[in-house]
Amino acid sequence: MSKKAVYFFGDGKAQGHAGMKNLLGGKGANLAEMSSLGIPVPAGYTITTEMCTLYYENKGRLPKALVEEAAKALRRVERSMGKKFGSTENALLLSVRSGARTSMPGMMDTVLNIGLTSKTIPGLIRKTGDARFVYDAYRRLIMMYADVVMEKAAGIESKDGHSIREKLEAALESMKEERGITEDKDLSAEDLEQLSKQFKKMVKRTLNTNFPDDAEKQLWGSIRAVFQSWNGRRAIAYRKIEGIPGDWGTAVNVQAMVFGNMGEGSATGVAFTRNPATGENAFFGEWLENAQGEDVVAGTRTPSPLNKATKTPETRRMKSLEEAEPKLYAQLDRIRLKLEKHYKDMQDIEFTIEEGSLWMLQTRTGKRTGGAAIRMAVEMKKSKLIDKKTAIMRVHPNQLDELLHPMLDPKAERNAVTLAKGLPAGPGGGVGKIVFTADDAERFSKEGKKVILVRNETSPEDVHGMHVAEAILTAKGGMTSHAALVARGWGKCCVVGCSDLTIDAQKKTLRVDGRVLHELDWLSINGSTGQVHLGKLDVLPAQPGKNKWYKELMSWADQTRQLNVRTNAETPDDAKQAVIFGAEGIGLARTEHMFFEPERIVHMREMILAEDEETRRKAVMKLLPFQKKDFLGIFKAMAGKPVTIRLLDPPLHEFLTLTADQVTVLANKLGIDQQKIHERIRLLHELNPMLGHRGCRLGISYPEITEMQAQAIFEAAAELTKKKVKVLPEIMVPLVGHANEFIHQEAIIRKAARDVMKKYKIKIKYLVGTMIEIPRACLVADKIAVDAEFFSFGTNDLTQMGFGYSRDDAGTFLPDYFERGILDQDPFQTLDQEGIGQLVEMGVEKGRSTRPDLKIGICGEHGGDPESVKFCHRIGLDYVSCSPFRVPIARFAAAQAAIESPR
Ligand code: PEP
Ligand code: MG
Repeated sequence: MSKKAVYFFGDGKAQGHAGMKNLLGGKGANLAEMSSLGIPVPAGYTITTEMCTLYYENKGRLPKALVEEAAKALRRVERSMGKKFGSTENALLLSVRSGARTSMPGMMDTVLNIGLTSKTIPGLIRKTGDARFVYDAYRRLIMMYADVVMEKAAGIESKDGHSIREKLEAALESMKEERGITEDKDLSAEDLEQLSKQFKKMVKRTLNTNFPDDAEKQLWGSIRAVFQSWNGRRAIAYRKIEGIPGDWGTAVNVQAMVFGNMGEGSATGVAFTRNPATGENAFFGEWLENAQGEDVVAGTRTPSPLNKATKTPETRRMKSLEEAEPKLYAQLDRIRLKLEKHYKDMQDIEFTIEEGSLWMLQTRTGKRTGGAAIRMAVEMKKSKLIDKKTAIMRVHPNQLDELLHPMLDPKAERNAVTLAKGLPAGPGGGVGKIVFTADDAERFSKEGKKVILVRNETSPEDVHGMHVAEAILTAKGGMTSHAALVARGWGKCCVVGCSDLTIDAQKKTLRVDGRVLHELDWLSINGSTGQVHLGKLDVLPAQPGKNKWYKELMSWADQTRQLNVRTNAETPDDAKQAVIFGAEGIGLARTEHMFFEPERIVHMREMILAEDEETRRKAVMKLLPFQKKDFLGIFKAMAGKPVTIRLLDPPLHEFLTLTADQVTVLANKLGIDQQKIHERIRLLHELNPMLGHRGCRLGISYPEITEMQAQAIFEAAAELTKKKVKVLPEIMVPLVGHANEFIHQEAIIRKAARDVMKKYKIKIKYLVGTMIEIPRACLVADKIAVDAEFFSFGTNDLTQMGFGYSRDDAGTFLPDYFERGILDQDPFQTLDQEGIGQLVEMGVEKGRSTRPDLKIGICGEHGGDPESVKFCHRIGLDYVSCSPFRVPIARFAAAQAAIESPR
């Protein structure tokens, strides 16, 4: 543990630097770095994350070293700013902000204007000559302090369901109503002074304690509150969604206040060094004249664009900072370039202009959409700001998902009733039913409904509802409002600042364009243009192939990766789609899905119900032409790429889920006694789901199934070979746990191959291999590999049998496991490397000990999960196989794996 509790920054100096994020939090580390770079930053100090941890260990007592060092640092801040905290003449005011290792937008609490007391206020009024400004700051302090420190951090739950903030806001609104005004800025100094008095009385009445009239008390109260907020409800909820560990703690930044609300020469703004929605290399941001930062982020006033270049038709009449303050804009633009060059990444910055002086309050790596991440990575590599490897590591594989996501069908959009247009804050199309609260969003989505969360503005309290919604639509707020930031971080469709909406969350109505819409009415939202349409529009699949940055980045990824990527597909259409997405073969064609069509399933059922081999064989052979057609289609679509076809796998009862009426129909069709069918269904029904008469056990009991499937595969291959179409079949035996099971099935397959080759008088290259999906198969992989020419890990079943969790009902208890921290990830989604991973590694080692060139892949769901793909790379697999839409993600994860651990 480091001994130092507090790190000073300011005056072009700093005790910390950007590399100290774990200790100083992202914000503190970057404030230190900016200060060292000579960028104007108001002086301040950062309390380390270790102090937060210590605070909790000490059961809420402040460490002594912290109190002493903070006092010293404060003297230095006072010297730097030429003001004194608590002074009656020339008071320094402070802000206290949280700052965790990674940014948690709006999750943690902030208190501004600390140090305003009955002692300091008269001096400040004299000095600024602006009583209105001072009382405005004071009423904001009282509200923030009462909310954050006196209520939330103290853990007080209001008795009447209204928080102190809501009550104070109501008082502010009723004062405006009395005065007949609508804007805060039209309140006079006297109004604000009176409001401050009223606020203090209400605080005392509601919370039973006085608002502290002492600068030091305010300061330490706020610092404690930030520590407390680390374990507040909102922070915990956000951490859970983002997977942030609870023991990191937060740092606290105490910094001299600068004011963006000191009149016309003052302003505040938020900006991105490049466009976070599109990735375009253009300075992009928003500013508000005569306002404090919270006004921009809270989305209560719609801000103006930063420059002319980024105006939209909606904002074209607003004055940009570039036009209003060209010199300051130029200075800000120089800082933007300096920061990008220094950090080599897109930055999200906050600034304040206080009476003509520019101050930077924050810089951090900016959140961005997937599309923007890709474009920036490619363009930064091209301008030599970063190298190719860094460009690949910049994009999270899951971010590609957004490009692969559907959009509203433009044709449907053209004919749609467009209700309104807001700001395009998160791209893609979102179609769903209107809900007005986050709780309703959660409730309806649990019922399986697709919902769109419609709010005036969102707050961190809403994150659970935002997370489950298809899209988010807000009436207020700009591109940097809470809704926009959070949605973008998640790659969610989002439209903000849609001022034509009149939302009544209580009555659950949305008035727009002369209509009244209600809860559960359909809306369709285009997050790329900001348009809001009535009803349920069609959506189109994504077309990543049209995005040149995506194509370039993927080509770099393909040059880099060492792992092949195949797809799980069993129809020619899926196979073609997967090839477009870059699949290099089929890793798993599940043949059972092919038998469910009405004209096929009847033969399948006939086969299952047959009582002797001859009848069964007859029924099976009726399926042969269908199977052959299936394989012809797939082989053609894959044009010579390897195609792994798995023999029939599922328990037979899955084909016999019949109602009584259906049994009657089937009995008549096949001329069998109804009772017999019912009896067979009863016999086949499993008590242990997924552990019954399935996999190679079927082919062993009923060899004619394997014979038919093998014959169909080889005949399809032979016919295509004759037509000079290349084919490369790989026949895969499922659910093998003993080498003898494989040997039995292999003999049938090879015989079928010989027979077909003789009949067609040609040679076909093929492989026979097995799935490794039973724990015992991993233990005896060396024996199985004597005969098997390839392995494909079926990690779905391996996880099921390794954990002893049924795939069919794990959903009933896994949520309890996550809730109680027993598991932090779903082992059916992300491979459990610690346990099941050992089985896989053992299977690889043992298999290759017998057959060094054994080809090994994975075809469980994990083949498309980035972390699992990286694991497969590390343990030496040849390929991963996943559903078509995950193929690009797997290719990209494989490239990152090759960079992280080359082999
Ligand atoms: C597996 O078990 O991982 C697998 C791919 O097969 P299925 O999901 O069809 O059982
Ligand atoms: Mg399986």
